[in-house]
Amino acid sequence: MSPTDPTSPMRNSTPVPMLDLVRAHAPLHDELEKAFRRVLASGHFVLGQEVEAFETEAAEFLGCRHAIGMSSGTDAVLAPLMALDLEPGDEVVCPSFTFFASGGCVSRAGGVPAFADVSARTFNSSASDLEAAIGERTRAILVVHLFGRCAAIEEILEMAAGHGLPVIEDTAQAFGASAGERRAGTLGIFGCYSFFPTKNLGGFGDGGLVSTDDDELAARICSLRMHGESDTYLHREIGGNFRLDALQAALLRVKLPHVDRLNQERFEIANRYCELFLETGAARSAAEYEANDTRVVLPDLGPDDGSHVCHQFVIRVPGGRRDELRAHLAERGIQANVYYPLPLHRQACFAGRQAHDRRLPVSELLALEVLALPMHPFLSLDEQQRVVDETRSFF
Ligand SMILES: *Cc1c(COP(=O)(O)O)cnc(C)c1O
Repeated sequence: MSPTDPTSPMRNSTPVPMLDLVRAHAPLHDELEKAFRRVLASGHFVLGQEVEAFETEAAEFLGCRHAIGMSSGTDAVLAPLMALDLEPGDEVVCPSFTFFASGGCVSRAGGVPAFADVSARTFNSSASDLEAAIGERTRAILVVHLFGRCAAIEEILEMAAGHGLPVIEDTAQAFGASAGERRAGTLGIFGCYSFFPTKNLGGFGDGGLVSTDDDELAARICSLRMHGESDTYLHREIGGNFRLDALQAALLRVKLPHVDRLNQERFEIANRYCELFLETGAARSAAEYEANDTRVVLPDLGPDDGSHVCHQFVIRVPGGRRDELRAHLAERGIQANVYYPLPLHRQACFAGRQAHDRRLPVSELLALEVLALPMHPFLSLDEQQRVVDETRSFF
């Protein structure tokens, strides 16, 4: 039975969205409502007991000494960079192929971003990609665990130590991912996490977290979170309002105990995508990439050891047909998004405001080829089959 056959069960027009938060929250409805009522009754809405309880639970989950609730993932990247006390002209190495906040925060903290290329197989910068962007003025390295895949953090830490550079981990897309015996985000001096609703541990508005094992750095982040306050209304430095709301903390406490299981579900769903795609013959594994082969390239999920929490399922569409495929899927009710269409080193805002002007060919190629397909822990086999069938029908 072909997918275009009107009698095919696949041939229904129910939309397949990128993610479905209503479906995701339904099983937790009563518990979430209880948490909401608790905050409502407390009359306390910023920081306080709920945030402290969440911070304790998050630190235990992540396996770090300090977890500090922040107003957003962006602020969770910004405050650690501010804590580096960058001088004008100081550089921070960061991948070019990532969400804007990674590079934007380097500039906002007074630094100059030195953009690094990434590996086409992992979408992450390797130790040598990052090392190639180090210069005399480099003060730190910002690693990104993109799409949920833990970067080669051990090698990166070793390389950075050789240059005497601290490493900050942008873990906004990889909450809970394992990094060997530990969790992504807890190996560098700081880990930065986002609870934007679409992230693996999503809140109900903006929220974020900074992790660290260093008591002094933790105190510094807490001060920066309160406008740089050193004592009540006394300011030794200029910080911001980077505080987490009690409501977010209370609701996140309901979701935190489920995140490992849901991350595992995501991996299994991603694995199933790969199997379904390979069966159709319309796709090939990442290892088989060759420039003149126009079949879709599947992401490399790596081993089933928790190191990839599949925040996104990102295929590559070579041959300049990515946008056409995206439109083809959209016409059939299937949402697919481009993360990210322009690498940071090519963004207008960084023109003349970055450390070097080298070409970063992999980042530039990926920006033309990547397409993220619907991915969330509640995606059904039928929905996946439709995505795969409609992708095949395009070719
Ligand atoms: C989402 C994200 C951020 C920013 O998080 P917000 O909560 O949206 O501010 C930072 N870095 C990366 C890689 C992200 O994906």
